[in-house]
Amino acid sequence: MTVHLTNTSLFRKDALIDGAWCPASTGARRPVHNPATGALVAEVAECGPDDATRAITAAVRAQAEWRNRTGAQRQVVLTRWHELVMDSLDDLATLIVAEQGKPRAEAAGEIRYAASFLLWFAGEAMRAYGDVIPPTNPATRLSVIRQPVGVCAAITPWNFPAAMITRKTGPALAAGCAIIVKPSEQTPLTALALGELARQAGVPAGLLQVLPGDGIELGKALCASPDIRKLSFTGSTQVGRILMAQSAPTLKRLSLELGGNAPFIVFDDAHVDQAVRSAIASKYRNAGQTCVCANRFLVQDGIYDTFATRLAQAVEQLRVGPGSDPDSVIGPLISTHALEKVEAHVRDAVDHGATVMCGGARDPAGALFYRPTVLRDTTPAMRIAREETFGPVAPLFRFHTEAEAIAMANDTEYGLAAYFFTRDHARAHRVAEALEYGMVGHNTGLISNEVAPFGGIKQSGMGREGSRYGMDEYMEMKYICTDIT
Ligand code: ADP
Repeated sequence: MTVHLTNTSLFRKDALIDGAWCPASTGARRPVHNPATGALVAEVAECGPDDATRAITAAVRAQAEWRNRTGAQRQVVLTRWHELVMDSLDDLATLIVAEQGKPRAEAAGEIRYAASFLLWFAGEAMRAYGDVIPPTNPATRLSVIRQPVGVCAAITPWNFPAAMITRKTGPALAAGCAIIVKPSEQTPLTALALGELARQAGVPAGLLQVLPGDGIELGKALCASPDIRKLSFTGSTQVGRILMAQSAPTLKRLSLELGGNAPFIVFDDAHVDQAVRSAIASKYRNAGQTCVCANRFLVQDGIYDTFATRLAQAVEQLRVGPGSDPDSVIGPLISTHALEKVEAHVRDAVDHGATVMCGGARDPAGALFYRPTVLRDTTPAMRIAREETFGPVAPLFRFHTEAEAIAMANDTEYGLAAYFFTRDHARAHRVAEALEYGMVGHNTGLISNEVAPFGGIKQSGMGREGSRYGMDEYMEMKYICTDIT
């Protein structure tokens, strides 16, 4: 095993069910590999439907008790969990680097970001207000209370092995729900470590459980159960559609954070340094493997050549290497499949007339490394314009007018994040309002934080995470009408 943690109790390879660590009922295990080296990191319990059934039973019991705790009591537990996560920052970052591959500084940043949701929702636990409504009939009193949805399930991806979990478990616990987490097969170790820290923080047995295993099989088992009242999923649009269909028979509440195809629009009047800096931050973070990564750079004719040259110069400086090397800023892609998709997009673009300004090939750092790439003269007919590349490739499209930029930006089934750069105040309002996206960055490429609502429209999904709105996803409204005569 290749992982060395200061606190070895965080290196968990079994499932967390009903407060105890246990192997899968079938005894099956699945290997987790380090994407930078291919080395085996651990063999993790591969849970099946029987484990899901056991977890659901425990969750129903635990939630019945937790829902009656006060907001203040829930806040204490979440705050303690936050503290333990921050105290374990180094170990958690080590696990992320080992199983997911991002550079260590980014991994540490992810843990801070992940922890921020626990602290934020610890506060929100105290603020789950209802309403008193002025009645239509003087003999009645009308009120609205907010109650926990019940037992929830979370299915999470590999690109943010910690943050995608706390962004769901934080509000679930704050609201009074229980939650069963099914982490990605590629990155279960961070999830299991978070489960251990939750246990140590005093999260009751059965309230938060972690079931590593196959997405298809566990997805079916969780969706089929009427006891699971809500499903929160982050991942691909394709799997989101499957889960929505599977949730129809039990009419579950759904939060879906799905794929994106983010435009990054640079107008002639943009501040070039700011646009280039933001492009690097938005595009190359996590080697381009985030759902809010800029996917299409739409650059106005007058600034196109300058922006292209400056971006390519900056990208050439980005150092490729394993996340464990402190000098690396571009780590490996997660899998051969991911690497081949990036290669196919670049090849298709070049075959149709794009020019490689830098990168455009694998990197010798290891089997899954791809050089950060800038492509110019890309056009909307290319695959890279329509599909999420999920890799370190920036394609530059040219536009002439504001109307053309907006039309190009909105010409996609997705609607998660969009970015635009202009110093014209009136244009900023027009463009921000015209973009069909759930989140818009104006003169910035970094928009995510725990206090703002994260989520998409169109086929990027539904629901919002983080922010005060994030609690709504885990609460039901109940209207109470009292006759006072
Ligand atoms: P990515 O491309 O980011 O891996 P996926 O949508 O394939 O995105 O995976 C995200 C999560 O969804 C993972 O935890 C995976 O196990 C799970 N998953 C994949 N296929 C299914 C499915 N058919 N039903 C339920 N979960 C699934």
